[in-house]
Amino acid sequence: MALIVHKYGGTSMGSTERIRNVAKRVAKWARAGHQMVVVPSAMSGETNRLLGLAKELAPSKADSAYHRELDMLAATGEQASSALLAIALQAEGMASVSYAGWQVPIRTDSSYTKARIESIDDAKVRADLAAGKVVIVTGFQGMDEVGNITTLGRGGSDTSAVAVAAAMKADECLIYTDVDGVYTTDPRVVPEARRLSTVSFEEMLEMASMGSKVLQIRSVEFAGKYRVPLRVLSSFTPWDIDLTEEAASGTLITFEEDDKMEQAIVSGIAFNRDEAKISVLGVPDKPGIAYQILGAVAAANIEVDVIIQNVSKDGKTDFSFTVHRNDHTRTVELLKDKVLPALGAAEVVGDPKICKVSIVGIGMRSHVGVASTMFRVLSEEGINIQMISTSEIKTSVVLDEKYMELAVRALHKAFGLDQQAA
Ligand code: ADP
Ligand code: ASP
Ligand code: MG
Repeated sequence: MALIVHKYGGTSMGSTERIRNVAKRVAKWARAGHQMVVVPSAMSGETNRLLGLAKELAPSKADSAYHRELDMLAATGEQASSALLAIALQAEGMASVSYAGWQVPIRTDSSYTKARIESIDDAKVRADLAAGKVVIVTGFQGMDEVGNITTLGRGGSDTSAVAVAAAMKADECLIYTDVDGVYTTDPRVVPEARRLSTVSFEEMLEMASMGSKVLQIRSVEFAGKYRVPLRVLSSFTPWDIDLTEEAASGTLITFEEDDKMEQAIVSGIAFNRDEAKISVLGVPDKPGIAYQILGAVAAANIEVDVIIQNVSKDGKTDFSFTVHRNDHTRTVELLKDKVLPALGAAEVVGDPKICKVSIVGIGMRSHVGVASTMFRVLSEEGINIQMISTSEIKTSVVLDEKYMELAVRALHKAFGLDQQAA
């Protein structure tokens, strides 16, 4: 008998019929003798619907009091789907109970809309499992020190599931979703994308942080820190598929460095449209300018990603960096009001219409020229690279967003990731 955590995403929980299917699948696992903890997301579209209502009432609010209420609101989506799943399980003849984050409790810090899990008390869940129940724990939510409801950031149910699995030392955490595993890139954008039967933890971490939303990055961090056996698989297989076959399907996240020498140099391509570029033009080129610009941005709690500074000409330089697209206007205003006058710089220009495309692979460690292949492919497509950033196992470029799909497809092909190349 094993302790297994299942997580079902929004599409997998998208209708009563799908919830019934989830219940049948979970009941199959429980009847095979496993202790089951299930973490559902809100039904698909529900979180967007709720947040949209808030936006209608207060289009430009961004303070902490507002964010607190957003969490109160958004957390109801998971509360509803969890209760529905418990009801569906009971209808299948399976004893089941659901708990909201605060009932477990899952404790988080107080950063509303992007809270971090601090601890999970598993006593109640264990007692229910021992009594033969399937336990449903709401995804995406927790409670802070003083009892406020918090949420973990979009896609956060993945993190809830992996954190519960880590806290309970589960034998495996299975993330059921609307694709049958982790692909070389988003299969909805590149139909030639291939499913990976395994992906290393490091690669998964880079892919998630570079924009592949198949797993929320914090869930991958948790899996790495606590060595949670983690698999991504489809919830759309027939529920009564053979359990052993199901348990071996999808993509396994591995922690041991594969000693496959023939490992692909590039394992995957990630992309996102979540960032905006800010350029400060005509900055006097002297010590301290990066600090003056980025120090002010950091003090406003705005995260910066890619940074470049041009070579100086006539004692002046240009300085560019990217921030989350939601922070674009705020950053431009902050620089115009507070930094430009003190710096004596000429101008601040913002460009929200960019995208970031990244190639990821642990094979890049031991191969030279991978980045230059990337640049060649983009130049052959006539795509201008605005910024570049690299780490040991990834290279990212910032491009005009209109080239995103073209760039991803061309790179996918050039690095031999298309299905027919397998
Ligand atoms: P869920 O609601 O189950 O959490 P998500 O929409 O958050 O599902 O994540 C699954 C989606 O992630 C897929 O439908 C797919 O479009 C997208 N995706 C992006 N990159 C990848 C990738 N490399 N492999 C698989 N899916 C990916
Ligand atoms: N329901 C939340 C969202 O849509 C959390 C999740 O689905 O993981 O972001
Ligand atoms: Mg998700």
